[in-house]
Amino acid sequence: MMSVVICDSPAGASANPPPEALLGAWTGSAAFVYCRDLAGSLSAVNEAFARKFGRPADQLTGKPAAGLVHHDDVKSFARADDTVQRAPHTATHEQRWLTPQGWRWIDWEESAIFDVEGRIIGVRSVGHDITRRRLAEEQFHKLSSAVEQSPIAIAITDAEGGVQYVNAKFTAATGLTLETILDRELDVLREGHASEETYQEFRAHVRAGHEWRGELTRQSPEGRAVWESVRVCCLRNANGDIANLLVLRENISERKLLEGQLRQAQKMEGIGTLAGGIAHDFNNILAVINGYAELCVLNSSDPAVIQKSVREIKRAAERATGLVRQILTFSRKAEVHVASLNLNQHVRDLIALLAETFPRNITFQFALDESLAPLLADQNQLQQIVLNLCVNARDAMPGGGTITLATQRLEGEAVPGAMLRRHPCACLKVSDTGTGMPAHVRERIFEPFFTTKGVGKGTGLGLAVVYGIVASHEGCIDVESTVGQGTTFRVCLPFADALAPAAPAAAKTGDFPSGTESILVVDDEAPLRQLLETSLSRKGYTVTTAGDGLEAIDLLGRGEKKFDVILLDLNMPGATGIEVLKVLKITQPDTKVLVLTGHLSAEARTEFEQMGQHHFVRKPYTLDALGRQIRTILG
Ligand code: ADP
Ligand code: MG
Repeated sequence: MMSVVICDSPAGASANPPPEALLGAWTGSAAFVYCRDLAGSLSAVNEAFARKFGRPADQLTGKPAAGLVHHDDVKSFARADDTVQRAPHTATHEQRWLTPQGWRWIDWEESAIFDVEGRIIGVRSVGHDITRRRLAEEQFHKLSSAVEQSPIAIAITDAEGGVQYVNAKFTAATGLTLETILDRELDVLREGHASEETYQEFRAHVRAGHEWRGELTRQSPEGRAVWESVRVCCLRNANGDIANLLVLRENISERKLLEGQLRQAQKMEGIGTLAGGIAHDFNNILAVINGYAELCVLNSSDPAVIQKSVREIKRAAERATGLVRQILTFSRKAEVHVASLNLNQHVRDLIALLAETFPRNITFQFALDESLAPLLADQNQLQQIVLNLCVNARDAMPGGGTITLATQRLEGEAVPGAMLRRHPCACLKVSDTGTGMPAHVRERIFEPFFTTKGVGKGTGLGLAVVYGIVASHEGCIDVESTVGQGTTFRVCLPFADALAPAAPAAAKTGDFPSGTESILVVDDEAPLRQLLETSLSRKGYTVTTAGDGLEAIDLLGRGEKKFDVILLDLNMPGATGIEVLKVLKITQPDTKVLVLTGHLSAEARTEFEQMGQHHFVRKPYTLDALGRQIRTILG
């Protein structure tokens, strides 16, 4: 850059030198150039400058240069003027100037203009439009600070998974800086994958160029369990090869917690719906029992009446037992227990209950495929699906109608949803003859809190919960609806593995098998104890009884008798069933135990399982079911 121009104007230092003298070799240059005097006014501009700023040269000279400059950038004149005072009398600065195309960033290279006596009389500026570069830089800064400050943990690795960058959130979430990761040669992609096998599956998926998404758990640096939603995408270079992997990890622990609460809340809502109907049901049952009991009292000498009454009472009690079981299943906290179960059976059981509580003008129809293999599902959640779909169907038919429940096996292309297409699946169809839904409603039905029902009627949670449950079972759900004709929901769920144990066959009533083994019955309720003693003795067993836990511990401690099976109640005064079990595990560790219990919490079950206790009979039980279970554990 030329820094010095000797102005050899014959007019001397005081007169204004002509523009050509100030611009020198730049007069006809393609670069835009101007000169300004010490007061900051334009003293000369070349043609390129006049073109750039869209005005003839004579309209520009004499005007203050600052008039064309963005007010935020005007300050830089003073700095540049200052700098050119000192050797080598050059300066550079960047400013925004107003051109007919709008504000442009211009990089100015400035040099002092001297007169013959060597005094500085002005500055000459050669400009380069750097708007494009500035924008690119700004964008780059924006992007890199967005990545660095992102609330999502981000890591960038090479194609093999070697880490090259982690952002601040990543370090905060994992406690790992880039240096530690490199020093310890950590594999950030591995973390959270449950097994080497799933990890290798994931690597193969990514290596093939696909995006991967999943939810993984890991330990936070403080040792808490953290749920993360993880996405891994391939970044490709200009040749289309995978150059880097972008890893995005977002903490979703809170959402997971809320989902759990939501499921529970929704279930409570379901219970509310059922409670009314159940109270009504129980009243009917009690009326039957009371009635027949009275009949017995009045006709105590007529064996025919007594026998018929007792049969009716037993039938009523069985119905009550079924109801209580339903409610218990329902009110239990949302502990998820996926097992092999019979879809048709669960549909029938639940509909039997719903049929009692739904308005009389709604009828149920079944089209169940009886050869359907068992499903892999959580029983409570399966019931929630059926319940929600039926309640919605009921609400869609205020004037009555038909709800049809159909089950069927789907295979190959018939299976909706790419997830399932590899395997056959079980499909449950719930159809109604109700109002149907217009498209704008149908699009939103799975959104939490979306409801078209009035205040206090709908919560908008039902289908959101159903959707969540179906997704967690790796199934899928779809809906078809025609306004004025009705709606059909289809839920597809995976079959249980062919090797998994089949769902227990519904217990047949009748005679249960006999045996000759010796049994200890521990129960503090005398009538129950006597009932068991009488009926088991009749079947050939040798029965001993204990009226509470302490008596049982005494008996076992004396070691006089060996028992093949112990029927153990849990809640007893003195020593509880668990305490008896502890003693037993020491004194007679091989004795089989059948725990009789009304409700078993998840914690209690775990505690039992840790003690090696796996056999339970739910109260209220039938003698028949109990007798069969005794045979099962005796082998
Ligand atoms: P809610 O029942 O509390 O409104 P849901 O999530 O169960 O919440 O359902 C959301 C909405 O979907 C309902 O308000 C209703 O508009 C629509 N919907 C669901 N099932 C049906 C159906 N079988 N027929 C017509 N509309 C339905
Ligand atoms: Mg609903």
